[in-house]
Amino acid sequence: MARVVVIGGGLGGLAAAARLAKLGHAVTLLERSSRLGGVVRTAEHDDRAVGRFRWDAGPAAVTLPATLRDLFRKSGRPLERVLELAPLPTPRRHVFPDGTALDLPVGSRSGQRRAVEAALGSTAGAAWEAVVDDLAPTWESLRTRVLEVPFSGVRSLGPHGVRALAPGRSLRAFARRRLTDVRTRKLLEYPVLATGSDPADAPSFTAVRAYVERTFGIWTCAGGFGALVDALGQRLDERAVTVRLDAEAVAIRGDGAVTGVELRGGERLAADVVVSGVDVRTVARGILARPPWAMRRSVRTLRDASPSPLVHVGLADAADDLLHETVFHGDDDRESPTVVVRAPDDPSLAPAGYRAVSVIVHRNGGTGITADPLDVLARRGWDIRDRVVARVDGEATSYGPAWRGAVRGLGVARNHTAVRGLFMVGATAHPGPGVPEVLLGAAAVATEIGRA
Ligand SMILES: Cc1cc2nc3c(=O)[nH]c(=O)nc-3n(C[C@H](O)[C@H](O)[C@H](O)COP(=O)(O)OP(=O)(O)OC[C@H]3O[C@@H](n4cnc5c(N)ncnc54)[C@H](O)[C@@H]3O)c2cc1C
Repeated sequence: MARVVVIGGGLGGLAAAARLAKLGHAVTLLERSSRLGGVVRTAEHDDRAVGRFRWDAGPAAVTLPATLRDLFRKSGRPLERVLELAPLPTPRRHVFPDGTALDLPVGSRSGQRRAVEAALGSTAGAAWEAVVDDLAPTWESLRTRVLEVPFSGVRSLGPHGVRALAPGRSLRAFARRRLTDVRTRKLLEYPVLATGSDPADAPSFTAVRAYVERTFGIWTCAGGFGALVDALGQRLDERAVTVRLDAEAVAIRGDGAVTGVELRGGERLAADVVVSGVDVRTVARGILARPPWAMRRSVRTLRDASPSPLVHVGLADAADDLLHETVFHGDDDRESPTVVVRAPDDPSLAPAGYRAVSVIVHRNGGTGITADPLDVLARRGWDIRDRVVARVDGEATSYGPAWRGAVRGLGVARNHTAVRGLFMVGATAHPGPGVPEVLLGAAAVATEIGRA
């Protein structure tokens, strides 16, 4: 049995701690703040007259639900017993600059084709289906060579993988080459744009998200993603993980191999294994005295994605047919931003007759955004300002590391480090930001550490 200290109580740290405890290790999790979850947060507003509103201020929908199911199964009871993960059959309405609207279903190949054909015409529908079909081998390569294995850079890909992933081409170039209808290009680019990266800086294989969404669907947590953090906290409790809140790690001790962790205040915990779930820059620039070369290189190259301004509002008289997301795509020529209205269909989030809605503005290209998101939305033809009964201004937080060009990738740290016993998980470690990604990184680290 190893003495494991996990630093950070975000999803990466929580998932690693749950898995390692189930593998029989003695696990202590340190969280600097007074709550678990990290960027998985809930914004709240209690209005005396109207009632209580809650909004997901971090993740609000995920794909690859198998990553969550695997985490819960491999750490104790299955997910279905502790959390209601709900599929969103048609998660998004896309509204294009020319006024066309498309409600795009997921989880159904024929359903997608029919919807794209009906809204954008048969040529666009056939082209969209062909592009998404052709991404199946890309997904297979990513899954088997990048996501589900310990990854050590391009060498892990092998010549076949490099050919399949074509990392030298950008998502924008790929979209332009494969799709003539500018609106279907926007469908392909949106998932990258929504994470604060520029599609011109993302490699073409990020288009695989369209295949992943169509195949595995998009899911949300009933009651908001706070329920996921609660379920993981409960799981750590069941697995006898020692969870310490308000406990900031200030040093990882050991030279060449970890021996322990020092907390603010001077307390020292002995450890055979340390799993860091905090930003690699915090580790390399602060808590690890002599960071290895590969870690220093990540720190030099890593850039945060552009934060997206957002506001959470409680809305009266919200239209019943609002989907989980309505995306008002920007007009590239006029550098107008893409505005997203998120309106989960979950009665537990708002008083009866009201809807908890978030409005998020993603910049297109290089334009900065300073205007109020509700004003930006009004300029796109949907003015909700006089129906707002509650308002919480969200923090514009970066989603995580940004794509830095088709070849250079995300610049995240490897899970395995050159310091014996030190592993990295979370958004700034392989395979990068996003709930499924962070869970896959934690799974890879637990596999590598192995049974007690
Ligand atoms: C606004 C936003 C929206 C998102 N939306 C989605 C979405 O819809 N779908 C999706 O799949 N993904 C989404 N993501 C991405 C996903 O939520 C994140 O990639 C993931 O939750 C990051 O988890 P983490 O464990 O890496 O980090 P964090 O959540 O950042 O957790 C790190 C934790 O470490 C703690 N910590 C830091 N330093 C120390 C220290 N020295 N000692 C002890 N503790 C420390 C922090 O307090 C924090 O709790 C979103 C992210 C953001 C920011």
